[in-house]
Amino acid sequence: MKKDLLDIICCPVCKEDLTLKTSKVDGEEILEGVLECVKCHNKYPIEEGIPNLLPPE
Ligand SMILES: [Zn+2]
Repeated sequence: MKKDLLDIICCPVCKEDLTLKTSKVDGEEILEGVLECVKCHNKYPIEEGIPNLLPPE
């Protein structure tokens, strides 16, 4: 996913902003990492460049 996408996406649970804890970046592209909600602290993985924004069970 592009870094710009961070401005658009939000937590599916509480709609707050997500912070990125990156582990692998290629230029403007985030390949692997973890998105963490600033409010509820749910974590959403980014795998192979695709953010998984499904709410936790
Ligand atoms: Zn949240």
